[in-house]
Amino acid sequence: MSRIVLSEEFRELCHRLRCQPATEGLQCWPVQQLQWLGQAGGWRWNMPIECGGLGCSAIELLEIYRDLSAACLTTAFVLTQRNAACQRLVQAERPLVSRSLLRDLASGQLQATVGISHLTTSRQYLSRPAVVAEPAAGGWCLTGVVPWATGAASSQLLVTGAVTADGLQLLVQLPLQQAGVTVGLPVELLGLSAAWTSEVHFEGVFVPQSAVLAGPCERVLSGGSAAVPAAGSLSTSAVAIGFGLGALAGFREEAELRAELRPFVQRFEVESEQLWQQLRVSAGVVGPGAVVSCCEGVPLTAEQVRTRSNSFALRTAQAWLAATRGAGYRSAHRASRAVRESLFFLVWSCPQAVLESQLQELTVDWSDEERRWRERGI
Ligand SMILES: Cc1cc2nc3c(=O)[nH]c(=O)nc-3n(C[C@H](O)[C@H](O)[C@H](O)COP(=O)(O)OP(=O)(O)OC[C@H]3O[C@@H](n4cnc5c(N)ncnc54)[C@H](O)[C@@H]3O)c2cc1C
Repeated sequence: MSRIVLSEEFRELCHRLRCQPATEGLQCWPVQQLQWLGQAGGWRWNMPIECGGLGCSAIELLEIYRDLSAACLTTAFVLTQRNAACQRLVQAERPLVSRSLLRDLASGQLQATVGISHLTTSRQYLSRPAVVAEPAAGGWCLTGVVPWATGAASSQLLVTGAVTADGLQLLVQLPLQQAGVTVGLPVELLGLSAAWTSEVHFEGVFVPQSAVLAGPCERVLSGGSAAVPAAGSLSTSAVAIGFGLGALAGFREEAELRAELRPFVQRFEVESEQLWQQLRVSAGVVGPGAVVSCCEGVPLTAEQVRTRSNSFALRTAQAWLAATRGAGYRSAHRASRAVRESLFFLVWSCPQAVLESQLQELTVDWSDEERRWRERGI
């Protein structure tokens, strides 16, 4: 395990997040949690050392996302979106992003978020792109609606995308507090409302060429490291696995009181270890031999890891709820909340391949199981 997740201050942060009352509902933007995160160095983890950051490696960030998600999904999720924006700024094609801006991000003085799903997983069926970029003197003019931007109402900077008349994609950064930009009110959701996800509207917003991070080109978001929270990436899996581990911890508490639950806890424990190893193999941290069931030595793709991670998150939350019975179904119960939050993984950052695998899992074929019942005379 890496220096960060082993450090005393990180363990203390996770402990505090776990003990903090639930962050649920629009009125619960996690002010205190984010303050603790900053105090523990959270704004610096993914920033380059020369800009005041800690330059964490991809695997370190995956471990951080896992452990934070187990403690508080809202806080972890806000961080992933902020980090996605920062990492796109750091990786800009041309050295456009000033060192002082990166320093302000690393110190937490400046907050950024990302609204890029309309380039990958959202609004793909529309004939007109969600955000259109038209050439203007010295830059581009953006019009349209960014459908999703978490924490936008609390951020100063947005990394977002737009599509030109030729169908090419641009990745840009822009200040949120300027004429022509309207951050919508955060939306009440099935879960994670406290992460303040809103639409962002653009009405002819000028973006100078110096604020274009990449493009215009096809698939401007392709590439990037395992730890950049992109659609269906390993970092989204680390969040799902971590969340599942948090739910498993709740399920384990029930099993401490009831021995009949323990075999099921153990099965999840074995699964979680294998799954984390699968992720490490896919991230290139360890060789395929590290996982017994690793598809005959072939590492799983990021999308396959995500499918398995989603399944783990959903099943652990439901197992916990089942174990807590009617008491757990009360909306204030932690298991009830975990089930609501677990459904987030069905819709967040899921490329088509992940969606299809999920639907395969949900449309289960019972014929084999029924045959086994008959053979056993049930
Ligand atoms: C809580 C939360 C926070 C998020 N935060 C961020 C963020 O910070 N940054 C970011 O970039 N993204 C974010 N996302 C976006 C996320 O990653 C996905 O892109 C998003 O969940 C996809 O859902 P959508 O409704 O936009 O999909 P869409 O595919 O646009 O579907 C919208 C609706 O259109 C209809 N539809 C879909 N396909 C078709 C079709 N082929 N024909 C006709 N109708 C169709 C369906 O009825 C569907 O309900 C967030 C999502 C959630 C849920």
